[in-house]
Amino acid sequence: MDRKGVFSDRCPSCGLLFQRESGFMLGAMPVSYLLTFFCWVLPCGILWFYDCFSETLLWCLLIPGILIFPLAVIRFSRLLWMATYFAFLPHLLDEKE
Ligand SMILES: [Zn+2]
Repeated sequence: MDRKGVFSDRCPSCGLLFQRESGFMLGAMPVSYLLTFFCWVLPCGILWFYDCFSETLLWCLLIPGILIFPLAVIRFSRLLWMATYFAFLPHLLDEKE
């Protein structure tokens, strides 16, 4: 992603093609959902369950969190998605097209 927020098609360093096919990066969405759940929703739920804060504060944290957190971790989600993809299909790393 450059400074304008646009994702690059290729790695500027090694030329690896990021957008391998139409919809390739859709795999990053469930990764983003899982990150949001385990890093935001679950900790908030656990803290609420143990009475660390009120139900009102729980909702005040959850609603903005589930909207903002996935956007904050989208780059990391794409990275994890590509790492998972190439962990199972490492021979595709050599392909430049
Ligand atoms: Zn690279």
